[in-house]
Amino acid sequence: MSIRFDIITIFPKAFDSYFNESILKRAQQKKLINIRIHDLRKFTKGKHKKVDDKVYGGGPGMVIKIKPLARAFGSILKLKVKSEKLKVVLFSPAGKQFDAKMANDFAKRYNHIIMIAGHYEGVDERIKKVVRDSGLNIVELSIGPYVLTGGELPAMILIDAVSRHIKGVLGKNESLEEKREGIGVPSYTRPEEFGWKGKKYTAPKVLLSGNHKKITEWRERMRKKQK
Ligand code: SAM
Repeated sequence: MSIRFDIITIFPKAFDSYFNESILKRAQQKKLINIRIHDLRKFTKGKHKKVDDKVYGGGPGMVIKIKPLARAFGSILKLKVKSEKLKVVLFSPAGKQFDAKMANDFAKRYNHIIMIAGHYEGVDERIKKVVRDSGLNIVELSIGPYVLTGGELPAMILIDAVSRHIKGVLGKNESLEEKREGIGVPSYTRPEEFGWKGKKYTAPKVLLSGNHKKITEWRERMRKKQK
């Protein structure tokens, strides 16, 4: 199983460092994920490569223009993937809340996810119709109850959260924490005792006891305490 992710953005360089480190880098090398970044400016025709314009109806802020957006989207569709395996995502703070269940569902159901990262006042609303008229569904997703300056971080978050559910992406040392009740459990590693500015900081003795029953009970207690 592998997933292709396409991101349409006006800031393609924003992705360089994150996708070229650690687990996601390895996942790309193993061809478990394939990430393609599409620079919206390359889909403009004018000399000035204008990707945004003033909002109709007045008011401050700029809107990402429909023409380069539709062209970028059209160029990705040339890949001819089966529509039931393809998901189109438009990021918006007003969208449906992206969560762990959705990340897992996406990994199981789709082999191609196209993401549109907005900026400024967002994207021209007509892109939704363009996508639907291509016979595809588009879902508006929010990454959290706050407003960001752009959809680049949401795209990175979605790719990271979905990729973790693809078999082979996580090594045995990074196995899915949500499956082993690892979320919210405090972690410690060597040294057992650590001195800092005259104080001693020790790891909980139970974790070094070798008593698995007691360790499981302690972790469960800690997990509940964090809630
Ligand atoms: N006026 C827009 C609206 O009401 O949807 C908000 C635009 S926001 C300042 C700029 C872009 O950042 C959005 O188009 C979206 O791509 C992204 N964005 C901001 N907050 C987000 C969030 N919580 N979840 C997902 N995307 C977000």
